[in-house]
Amino acid sequence: MKLTICHLYPDLLDLYGDRGNILALAARCRWRGIEPVIQQASLGEDLDFMGMDILFIGGGSDREQGLLVKDLMHREDELRKAIENGLVVLSICGGYQMLGKYYQMTSGEKIDGLGILDIWTIAGEKRLIGNVVVELHEKVLGINSNKFSTLVGFENHSGKTHLGEGVSPLGKVLFGHGNNGEDSREGVRYRNVFGTYLHGPLLPKNPHFADLLLELAILRRGFDTCLTTLDDGLEELAHKAMLKRLLKQA
Ligand code: GLN
Repeated sequence: MKLTICHLYPDLLDLYGDRGNILALAARCRWRGIEPVIQQASLGEDLDFMGMDILFIGGGSDREQGLLVKDLMHREDELRKAIENGLVVLSICGGYQMLGKYYQMTSGEKIDGLGILDIWTIAGEKRLIGNVVVELHEKVLGINSNKFSTLVGFENHSGKTHLGEGVSPLGKVLFGHGNNGEDSREGVRYRNVFGTYLHGPLLPKNPHFADLLLELAILRRGFDTCLTTLDDGLEELAHKAMLKRLLKQA
């Protein structure tokens, strides 16, 4: 079996080593005998969203987001069609913001988003920075039985994202700020699209979430979603170390 994983704008949206999420997904495929096919595409380069299994969009500064918006808008129809067809998407911070209606910077200037998700982002004066712990939303947790019901990561954003209709939060903030530091929500889920402010990169310390993305991609292809269990001892130690440090969990 092959899974095609695409990194969109790797030269512009990779602010905090977010490409590590691609490396984690590829490794967890290879460790199971699944061949990862890694694609990359940036400004002006063709992409077949329907032909891929997982799309990854990382984080970036306001400047980079402004540079890519025109190119991204040209991709809206194809991406929307693939998302409605169940394409798995992981979007981080700036990449997450661009799936919504707009991102209004501290200058007041608005960067248009794709409007695929009913979310919008308005930058605050104070950047939201620090470690984060999230309790996964039941709509996310219920998809797969996993060892953790939490996500751990690191956030650094000025944007405050608010969720509208037809979307669910990725989870509830147990430590840190999350989407906006006001409503205790972090991230978003819409069909197989996941957005989050968690950098780190996210997936190495959250192997259960990486496997969730792989399971959804395999299910969409009509294959058996029974992923073989991996020895995640180190990953689990790293996850638990953050829970202990941030939540004083045993
Ligand atoms: N530029 C956006 C913000 O500051 C996104 C930052 C990021 O991707 N880390 O909110």
